[in-house]
Amino acid sequence: MKNQGRLLIAAHFMNDEHQQHYLGPMNYECIHCKALHWLDESTQRSSKSFYDCCAHGKVVLDSLPEYPDELRKLFSLRHFRNKCRVYNNMLAFASFQANLMDFGIN
Ligand SMILES: [Zn+2]
Repeated sequence: MKNQGRLLIAAHFMNDEHQQHYLGPMNYECIHCKALHWLDESTQRSSKSFYDCCAHGKVVLDSLPEYPDELRKLFSLRHFRNKCRVYNNMLAFASFQANLMDFGIN
């Protein structure tokens, strides 16, 4: 029952007026950065170099730093991995910061 509305919407778009568009598998790996693409994203059909990810290898980012041991320990716990979105939502405003300005209204 939960997905019935979604199925109706999907059925609406699958009628004869709307033809399905399929790009094929997204399994073309950029030779520079290893990002996955569809073949149609390539500017040169036979090339496995893409512009959208790294501008044909012109953009090279530094590796991400190792994350702290505390986070590594948390992500080793199955409970945390299953509930990390809930924890993130609970703490979303805990780090809220604002620069207050005095407009002299009060
Ligand atoms: Zn790339």
